Amino acid sequence: RVPVPALLQRPADAIVRPQAAAHPKIPLPGDLYAPERRNSRGVEFGARVALDHLLADVKAAATELEPIADATPDQANAAVTAARVGFAAWSRTPAATRAAALEQAAHLLESRSARFIALLQSEGGKTLDDSLSELREAADFCRYYAAEGRKLFGVDAAMPGPTGESNALAMRGRGVFVAISPWNFPLAIFLGQVTAALMAGNSVVAKPAEQTPRIAREAVALLHEAGIPKDALHLVVGDGRIGAALTAHADIAGVVFTGSTEVARNINRTLAAKDGPIVPLIAETGGINAMIADATALPEQVADDVVTSAFRSAGQRCSALRLLFVQEDVADRMIEMIAGAARELKIGDPRDVATHVGPVIDMEAKQRLDAHIARMKTEAKLHFAGTAPQGCFVAPHIFELGDAGQLTEEVFGPILHVVRYRAENLERVLQAIERTGYGLTLGVHSRIDDTIEAIIDRVQVGNIYVNRNMIGAVVGVQPFGGNGLSGTGPKAGGPHYLARFATEQTVTINT
Ligand code: NAD
Repeated sequence: RVPVPALLQRPADAIVRPQAAAHPKIPLPGDLYAPERRNSRGVEFGARVALDHLLADVKAAATELEPIADATPDQANAAVTAARVGFAAWSRTPAATRAAALEQAAHLLESRSARFIALLQSEGGKTLDDSLSELREAADFCRYYAAEGRKLFGVDAAMPGPTGESNALAMRGRGVFVAISPWNFPLAIFLGQVTAALMAGNSVVAKPAEQTPRIAREAVALLHEAGIPKDALHLVVGDGRIGAALTAHADIAGVVFTGSTEVARNINRTLAAKDGPIVPLIAETGGINAMIADATALPEQVADDVVTSAFRSAGQRCSALRLLFVQEDVADRMIEMIAGAARELKIGDPRDVATHVGPVIDMEAKQRLDAHIARMKTEAKLHFAGTAPQGCFVAPHIFELGDAGQLTEEVFGPILHVVRYRAENLERVLQAIERTGYGLTLGVHSRIDDTIEAIIDRVQVGNIYVNRNMIGAVVGVQPFGGNGLSGTGPKAGGPHYLARFATEQTVTINT
């Protein structure tokens, strides 16, 4: 059989091709998309053939998930101490060398795609489609931060010298960065945080989510192999208690956190209570993300984008749609179409290529979501309930709320809440969105430019998607991150991200 070519192989400059990147298809190599191999409905059956080979490789790469012991508090402390030692040499390593290690990491990731897909499926419960796009995102982060880092850290900026002195501004690493990540993007977010901190010249102690330590362990081994010194990057496995111990450590210089708003608040309090230097927190947290669909929107497109945004990845994306505002005049028809599209979703084993919706991350998450569904059944109108297999699965649900205020916190699963609004009350919709306090993603479906512009002007959310779905931000193309309860405002995969990990030094020399 024909060997599957290295997946995701893209030239480094591909990250600045917005059109190609903004609508990622199954990211198989371009040569498998030969146009003559499309059938009459445009389906790439060449890619399908390649997919069969890929699936065989993924299966071969899968192994049993062996247990991993949590670190003890002493081991966590020792990792910070060792990272402090590692910082000295790593911070003085030229930016070009640091960047080359990240580029090598991207290359290694791509050459081991089958193994990482197998891990994403078995440990993270991800479908094939989600595993592929996560792998691609992880490789993109490595290349993008390498490219940005070369610019930002490669040469000191010469400043004007009106006083006859020479002035230069340099960007430097801060020290030991603690990187704490969630389970829902166990490879891409984990690597995005770690590579950004390393590129900026910091040493790193990384604590992945307790649900996904194996993916993190292989990713760290890969970074070491790619040229990151062992003492510059340490992995500490454990739950929130170990994370809390790391953030309380006296010798850390920064924390980058992605996860829930509540934990971000806890970390913020821990950092604020410490004596010594003020330690910055970069926090990327949750959202109650809304979409507004007015009567001019294209119903088929709305249905497709709503189903993708609310139910893909079993709704376990921070960007996922939770609250859909539909204009009253078209609401009945729109809800019917969305329910019809949701009915087509196949829920089940993520390793089955036909599956659209895989499991939720663990039984605790399932119980939380089941409890929310039970509450909604008494407080809201049920429009649709899918069927899920036994086990750690939650079927997609659609509820209609009388008032958006009924949804007070982020529900991290495949549950969509719909609210009707009258055209003259659009302002009230915008106020309801503001009242959530979150500001991560917003979707707008309308064909009236004035409406679109008015909404963009008015709502302070990090990422707005107009007339498309609202998930899957592409690195270097759609910088991603929110405000308010959704975080401290960093934009992962954007040109200003790395600067947040650095400190600045001005040198003035009297010549
Ligand atoms: P979580 O907040 O429960 O856990 C995140 C990480 O924090 C884990 O590694 C956990 O062990 C650690 N942790 C828990 N308590 C801690 C403490 N007191 N001190 C230090 N660390 C602690 O989140 P989760 O359930 O893993 O992930 C889902 C959440 O992440 C959702 O709210 C989602 O919206 C959010 N998220 C946000 C983004 C974004 O970019 N804005 C991206 C992905 C996920």
